[in-house]
Amino acid sequence: MTASDWNKIAKMLESKPVVKQKFLKHCKPKERTTGIAKNKCERCGRFGSHIKSYGLNLCRHCFRETAVDIGFKKYS
Ligand SMILES: [Zn+2]
Repeated sequence: MTASDWNKIAKMLESKPVVKQKFLKHCKPKERTTGIAKNKCERCGRFGSHIKSYGLNLCRHCFRETAVDIGFKKYS
């Protein structure tokens, strides 16, 4: 079972309480304090190439798609 976010799997297992308990005990990802897995894109959920500046919390792909709407202007 794969999903971009473990919360989706936990929600899917609402009808199976015992399986959900086992999932939460053994398969839930750890709460990270440091490292690449701490920062996640708010729009798509990617871990890599994260932009924290100006409180954006987006990956570079989502930033490229939404930059003009947010108010960034390309000068070159
Ligand atoms: Zn993204």
